[in-house]
Amino acid sequence: MIDIQKSPNSKLSQTNFDNLVFGQVFSDHMMECDYKDGAWQNPVIKPYGPITLQPSARVFHYGQAVFEGMKAYKDKEDKIWLFRPDQNFERINKSSERLAIPEFPKDYFFNALEELLKLDKDWIKQGFGNSLYIRPFVIASEAGVSASAAKEYKFMIICSPAQAYYSGEVRVKFSEKFSRAADGGVGYAKAAGNYGAQFYPTNLAKEEGFQQIIWTDANSHEYLEEAGTMNIFFRIGDKLVTAPTNDRILDGVTRKSVLTLAEEFNIDTEVRRVSVKEIVEAAEKGELKEMFGSGTATVINPIVGFGYKGKKYELPKMEDSYAKFFKDKLMKIQYNEAEDKFGWRYEVK
Ligand SMILES: *Cc1c(COP(=O)(O)O)cnc(C)c1O
Repeated sequence: MIDIQKSPNSKLSQTNFDNLVFGQVFSDHMMECDYKDGAWQNPVIKPYGPITLQPSARVFHYGQAVFEGMKAYKDKEDKIWLFRPDQNFERINKSSERLAIPEFPKDYFFNALEELLKLDKDWIKQGFGNSLYIRPFVIASEAGVSASAAKEYKFMIICSPAQAYYSGEVRVKFSEKFSRAADGGVGYAKAAGNYGAQFYPTNLAKEEGFQQIIWTDANSHEYLEEAGTMNIFFRIGDKLVTAPTNDRILDGVTRKSVLTLAEEFNIDTEVRRVSVKEIVEAAEKGELKEMFGSGTATVINPIVGFGYKGKKYELPKMEDSYAKFFKDKLMKIQYNEAEDKFGWRYEVK
């Protein structure tokens, strides 16, 4: 059913896998599936390359676009694994629903993804930290600038080899003015516009010496919600705290996996609203031991300091950090080096 057009020349030999910039190099093939006449057509796997769209295509004008981020890992026996891909599949359809994009069929998604990964399996390198980043996305491809939901779409999957990513020391700014998402809005969806709207405030924060923003609730800016592409955790004393998901916060796969592991290892956890005031006070009293982000790209990203109302706070250096603990546990499961108690691994074969 899937039409497979193999690339006549692989880019593998020209790719330096020891010096990869995240998201810059793409594997030899991609998946493309069109929606028209009320149905998803046959998926096609073909050489990675440009696509053609009319300048009037809806996606350029109204941002009708959603995406996902997932990874494929290779173990020591060259077996290929995905981590909870059912979650990404369900989430892209949840995002699509909110953007009035038709649902994508599950068998199309898994069959096409597996064929693509098998074809590009040499792009997945062994070794802790190496992976193939997978970017499924959907765009409204129908021509015509009428401001309404399109009748034609493209579902695509592209893949980019990735190395263990060290972002340097991350300091974050708690947002005092800008917001990422509002009640009743699209914050819970991986909708393209959510990300484009963050670049300007993030650039301003960068000028002040921060790498990222922790978004606060749009109404009062009193509660900490999440980062641009990561959910966020706090360790106050030995207690792990994170905000509950809602229609403003993305329901991260890494976040929910951290919460499951925290329960398994009897780490005292609270899922509740986290106020800026509480975190500033905990930092002042020396009780705020850690902050970290969770997301597919970096798994767990430790945060070393934050800024709020012109003041900068530094966090202590922890020997036995929760960040390290969860990162190690998750990666061992992802790379098939630890028991998969919760059935999170998915083998591509
Ligand atoms: C993708 C994303 C996350 C992390 O989700 P994972 O499923 O863990 O990768 C968190 N917040 C936002 C806004 C995101 O886009």
